[in-house]
Amino acid sequence: MKQNVNGIGMTSMRTRERMISRLEEQGITNRKILDAMRNTPRHLFVDEALASRAYEDTALPIGYNQTISQPYIVAKMTELLLAPGPLNKVLEIGTGCGYQTAILAQLIDHVYTVERIQPLQKKAKNLLWSIKIKNVSYLHSDGGWGWEEHAPYDGIMVTAAPPEIPENLLMQMAVGGTMLIPIGKAGGQVLQRVTRTENDFKVEAMEPVSFVPLLPGRQ
Ligand code: SAH
Repeated sequence: MKQNVNGIGMTSMRTRERMISRLEEQGITNRKILDAMRNTPRHLFVDEALASRAYEDTALPIGYNQTISQPYIVAKMTELLLAPGPLNKVLEIGTGCGYQTAILAQLIDHVYTVERIQPLQKKAKNLLWSIKIKNVSYLHSDGGWGWEEHAPYDGIMVTAAPPEIPENLLMQMAVGGTMLIPIGKAGGQVLQRVTRTENDFKVEAMEPVSFVPLLPGRQ
């Protein structure tokens, strides 16, 4: 089979293009995000047995009871995060397999990513390194605490759902910064967009979503 640089067959090239067309049909318009998703070999982020399904619009298991988010939600959250303009510094909570991290890292100067399951984060780090994504710092910790050392952040993207917005994350937002965070229990989660103003926070409900819960502690 004909291969390109990522060792991906022509069939995967076609399914990847189909994923991009589907994202456009679903209303994603930011060309830079669509290009980043076109250039990122999503099949490397899922187990080999599931690689043929990597470009379907669905969440897939990545081990440790966790999932890789569906392409639409990755694109949508990234689009909302970037809407106010270019960002220098973004904090991501829930590295998981690192797919969302890889997309963010192609669009933002530096990504700080926090994950509570160490082996998952190690795997993500190795994979991102192998595809030459280097503008990412990794922390094994409970993301509910944020990553104070590098605060404030222009953007915060949370990819696991707490029952309410963690105070620490609010405190680590820059004035004018945006946070995207799913809130609530399975079956009733809503993606919230938080904007920090000079002396307040604006919270807007975006759309229903389905993420794994943000769990306390680390393992
Ligand atoms: N961003 C990933 C999706 C990750 S799934 C993607 O691109 O597909 C959610 C991740 O959040 C899981 O890996 C889970 O272990 C992690 N997580 C859950 N609670 C957490 C916490 N308190 N701190 C950091 N990570 C957490």
